[in-house]
Amino acid sequence: MSDSNLFVALRAAFPADLDEIAVEAVSPHGQALHYAWGDLDRMSARIANLLASLDLPQGSRIAVQVEKSVEAMTLYLATLRAGHVFLPLNTAYQSAEIEYFVGNAEPAVVVCTPKNLGWVSAIAASAGAAHVFTLGEDRDGSLLERAAHFDDLHVPVEKQADELAAILYTSGTTGRSKGAMLSHGNLLTNARMLKDYWGWKAGDVLIHALPIFHAHGLFVAIHGALLNGSKIIWFPKFDPKAAIAAMPRATVFMGVPTLYVRMLAEAALTKEAASHMRLFISGSAPLLIETFKEWQERTGHTILERYGMSETTMLTSNPYSADERFGGQDERRGSTVGFPLPGVDLRVADDAGKELPVGEIGNIQVKGPNIFKGYWRMPEKTAEEFSADGWFKTGDVGRVDERGYVSIVGRSKDLIISGGYNVYPAEIEGYINDMPGVAESALVGVPHPDFGEVGVAVVIAKPGAKLDGEAIIAALKSQLANFKIPKRCFVATELPRNTMGKVQKNLLRDQYKGLFVA
Ligand code: AMP
Repeated sequence: MSDSNLFVALRAAFPADLDEIAVEAVSPHGQALHYAWGDLDRMSARIANLLASLDLPQGSRIAVQVEKSVEAMTLYLATLRAGHVFLPLNTAYQSAEIEYFVGNAEPAVVVCTPKNLGWVSAIAASAGAAHVFTLGEDRDGSLLERAAHFDDLHVPVEKQADELAAILYTSGTTGRSKGAMLSHGNLLTNARMLKDYWGWKAGDVLIHALPIFHAHGLFVAIHGALLNGSKIIWFPKFDPKAAIAAMPRATVFMGVPTLYVRMLAEAALTKEAASHMRLFISGSAPLLIETFKEWQERTGHTILERYGMSETTMLTSNPYSADERFGGQDERRGSTVGFPLPGVDLRVADDAGKELPVGEIGNIQVKGPNIFKGYWRMPEKTAEEFSADGWFKTGDVGRVDERGYVSIVGRSKDLIISGGYNVYPAEIEGYINDMPGVAESALVGVPHPDFGEVGVAVVIAKPGAKLDGEAIIAALKSQLANFKIPKRCFVATELPRNTMGKVQKNLLRDQYKGLFVA
């Protein structure tokens, strides 16, 4: 066994008594489900043995588009164990999107929900994936049926720290999704860093209410709990009432800002309800200062905001304690994402790559053992995103103050973050521009009280063509995941442009910023 296989490190942190409960979940019918640590070990061993029986080359991609379940988490653990590469896909993705991911990643195995088997198998077959399994949210499907015939002991495959563990697809301004390649070493160093930094301790219990196709729920939350041998209270979907009701039995909650806003709307959220909790963590999108303050008033807890991305996992965090290693300050400051994590170097640079003085706004660039290995089969794109001296260009714009706190002020890549999900304008614009009668389009993010931000499209018709905004939205709905659909679509006569011919999205954002908020 090699200790560079992430699974080996996670498994080593399981409690000695494998009969202890590791995960408390609820079935789709409301039945309580309890998984012991031994169950996670045996289930993942069976699936790893099933994968091993397929005789795949090491490092094969295992593409997974299934509803959140504890079994889906064990499929992730099994993939690590078997030495393959986990490729999670958002459950909202439709066939055009899956076709692109499967075509690009060329997975050897595709796992989908039973209801999607028909169209997913067709895509998998045309991309040369030899094996398709199903996994339902009610522990049904062929994956577990087949795995049940395999042994529940499995020796993890040896892995070097720089071998791949996962690929997370993320988009750029070009609209083409890129697969960020993360190694066992990337993920393990980040998980270990966070275990220390956030003071994980014996007796911690995590409320897991995030999706597991994204770095936040899959890596930050799952690795955090498993590496600490901590029990997880597992919710397949976020329900604010249920999350609040779980707080007296838990200590750690991780959420995107939208989840905090939803819990604040519940009368049950009180100081008493949150009194057993140790730590509330927020990330993936900016936490509004109003939410930060309201949470403090209502619960007595100060949310700890952190910042990261698929390509890097976690980069910065507000402090958990005043430990000297972490800057000696214990103040969690709203509207900031805290300090670079130990081992992470962060600088703010101008467009030429020159480091800017303290307080100045510029491009955030990072270095560290957690920075990904590049974009899958896109060496040119990878090279573009790194400076000549090895800094990764995050695409985020921000500043560092004199005390060392980092703030994100914008996104050079124009990303819209709606309810914690990334929407890349160029991708949606591409679909709109392909519609009959459309000359061009622009998508901008505007503030929204529930989702943080939503997309608003502005569309220009070809001469003589008549366009209808509602019809454009309806057409997009059949092609794209719901979170990417613009909330409004306006037909205009021209797009504002600067002298260089670039669309001035800032003017559009200003024009529509009051659509959903006062
Ligand atoms: P993803 O790759 O989906 O994790 O998205 C990464 C992007 O989310 C980052 O590049 C940031 O733009 C944004 N992001 C993540 N955390 C924060 C935060 N705490 N505040 C502001 N933006 C954030």
